Amino acid sequence: MKNDPLVLFYLIDGARPDVMKRLIDEGQLPNIRKEVMEPGVFRKASSCFTSTTGPANLPFLMGCFPGTADIPGIRWLDKKEFASKKIGKYRLRSYNGIEGPWFNSDLPTDRKTLHELFNNSRNIYSMITRSLGSDRDLTKYTKLFHYLTAHLNDEWHDVDEAGHQKLMMSLDDRPDFIFAVFPAVDSFSHIHDPFDDDTIQAYINVDGYIGEAVEKLKKQGRWQNTLLIISSDHGLTSTHTHFDLANFFSERGRNTLKHPLIFKNKPDVSVMISGNAMGHVYLHDIIPDRPLYGREIYDSMGSLLPELVKRKEIDFLVWRESDEIFTIESSGGRALVLRTADGFTYLPQTGDPLGLGETSQSLSQMESLEVTFDSYYPDALVQIAQIFLSTRTGDILVTSKNGYDLRDSWEWPEHHGTHGSLCREHMIVPLIMNRNDWMNRAARTADLYPSILKWAGMKVPDNIDGVSLV
Ligand SMILES: [Zn+2]
Repeated sequence: MKNDPLVLFYLIDGARPDVMKRLIDEGQLPNIRKEVMEPGVFRKASSCFTSTTGPANLPFLMGCFPGTADIPGIRWLDKKEFASKKIGKYRLRSYNGIEGPWFNSDLPTDRKTLHELFNNSRNIYSMITRSLGSDRDLTKYTKLFHYLTAHLNDEWHDVDEAGHQKLMMSLDDRPDFIFAVFPAVDSFSHIHDPFDDDTIQAYINVDGYIGEAVEKLKKQGRWQNTLLIISSDHGLTSTHTHFDLANFFSERGRNTLKHPLIFKNKPDVSVMISGNAMGHVYLHDIIPDRPLYGREIYDSMGSLLPELVKRKEIDFLVWRESDEIFTIESSGGRALVLRTADGFTYLPQTGDPLGLGETSQSLSQMESLEVTFDSYYPDALVQIAQIFLSTRTGDILVTSKNGYDLRDSWEWPEHHGTHGSLCREHMIVPLIMNRNDWMNRAARTADLYPSILKWAGMKVPDNIDGVSLV
């Protein structure tokens, strides 16, 4: 155990590494450059599918992927529970709304959060707050007010500032772990654009906050024993056109359930959007109480399947052939992703929708990341396989091309920025930290959980998806 160590984690929600790199090069993030990057590194990490706040925070705080944790989106439906007709808690979710607090009771009970492993942690604005009282979840009673006010007034800088003030005060209590989310970059990216002036200002503000925190830690004599990490759960791309995936089905005569219109009798289809570039599609007509496989997808979708694949707004669709084989199809053709005991294989059939070529052999989980890290779909093989571990994952997953999203109606205010898909701009996040002695291999955000524990001299649980970089 280190002497009085502190792990200080700044999660800049929606931060893009290219924007951060440019701002650093322009001298607009001087504190991050001097205090974090110069003694440490600026590198990148691959997030998870779906690349959306909530599910994409699980790798950091639980070391696992959304599919492993059975939380496959910010919205999902459980076909078995839904078909049972009981009005039960586990039928469907939208963590964006009043069901947000259920995120914590939905977390897998056999896995511990970093907050539960550190003795004296503090949380600011993160959704993952299981077992924390208001003495440690510092925004437990103020988050809703701050977020609602910011949503109504389009003013998110105040939210970040309030979080920063909480963080500064908390340093007096000498915590051992602080996980602080700064939501302004994500919020301004959605409402304005990922490259808008307010969005850029939000990055610059966080740099100022980091400067103040480092100065205080130096005065406290703790800076030498502080691990400071800056990262994000996803990137964002600009959106020019909305395509409403749920309306695609309802306009073609399918009785379609979507948020917020969830009290629908005997729907044929349910659509649950995350981010808004990824949608789970649940088909209730032929087999309502379990996920569909292969031929059953064609039987239920009929001509809608090729019609959807060919649409200009759609990037690709992916579904189960079995629990180990997944079909991925785009307008450019079809390929298979296989998960076996030896690892992961990619087999183009009528095309190469992921642009990877055929993998000549089965790849381990780490090799799969290394081979795909610089591709347009980082970590695609592992990420497709992991999300289908959850039976709450849709019968079909749909992703939109950059520039488009999948939700038009009921989205207020209108969104001009999007994330959630497997594309590089959504998946690759900055990983900036004041250490340069960690392994330099391709990294996932899930690798930070064991790395943090190891750095702090603590035991790493073995039921995780991440692998330590330390
Ligand atoms: Zn977002």
